[in-house]
Amino acid sequence: MPWVTRGLRSGVVTTRYPRRPDGYPGPWVGSVRPRTSPPGEVDSGLDLESLCPTGAIRWEDPVVTVDRGRCILCMRCVRERPDIFVADGEVEVAVLHPSALVSPGPGSDDERALATLRTDLLRRTRALRRSVHIRHVDAGSDGTEEWEIAALTNPVYDVQRLGIFFTASPRHADILLVTGAGSGAMTGPLVETYEAMPSPKVVVAAGTDALSGGMHAGSYATTGGVTASLPVDVLVPGSPPSPFSLLHGILLAVGIVADRSGGGKQHEG
Ligand code: SF4
Repeated sequence: MPWVTRGLRSGVVTTRYPRRPDGYPGPWVGSVRPRTSPPGEVDSGLDLESLCPTGAIRWEDPVVTVDRGRCILCMRCVRERPDIFVADGEVEVAVLHPSALVSPGPGSDDERALATLRTDLLRRTRALRRSVHIRHVDAGSDGTEEWEIAALTNPVYDVQRLGIFFTASPRHADILLVTGAGSGAMTGPLVETYEAMPSPKVVVAAGTDALSGGMHAGSYATTGGVTASLPVDVLVPGSPPSPFSLLHGILLAVGIVADRSGGGKQHEG
């Protein structure tokens, strides 16, 4: 019976998120961004783009940006140029459009487009907020995202308390959760799974590989992410994304929490 006494000593370990903000203690890294002030502006002549193995850094004199949809969090830019790049521990990193993954953030035109996406997604998923079934498909993952997804059902995250369940059948699924760089061999099964789902067919792409291909972008064996194969509604960056980030993406998809731009509800249980 040692597990009983251990459980009693531990007390309740389950997070209160999203009713209360939660996350990880430092030095946890959730994303990388330019730190310059004013945001994104740096001196000319810097070969910053060559620092990044996945092409996430763009420098258009004088502005430097980081595309979190390409960033694999290798930390090379932060180590080499800590005066320009900084890592932060943000966990609510899911967004509704690739433009919102670029830091510094979207301009006013993109903000208007994001507001439209937000309204459309809320309308489509209104009926799902208290019961959500997820079909996960690995479309060429290295396995890291799967470890984080598996953690969602442990006592710390306990997604069942929020009415979130995983299902084996696409016929019973509301959300298609996709990981992996989009291997060519998985494109057909991925599309068939999507087509077998009932409406409203919400797609959440999780991890940098799923968003852009990551280190595999341009490979003969992948489609450079899954966004070319499926109409992705929510993008969760990270390599891999943490369980809190995955949970943020799922709850964003059904309108229970807000995206980083601030639309929708926030921290509602
Ligand atoms: S952390 Fe690595 S992958 Fe991300 S922007 Fe910096 S160099 Fe590129």
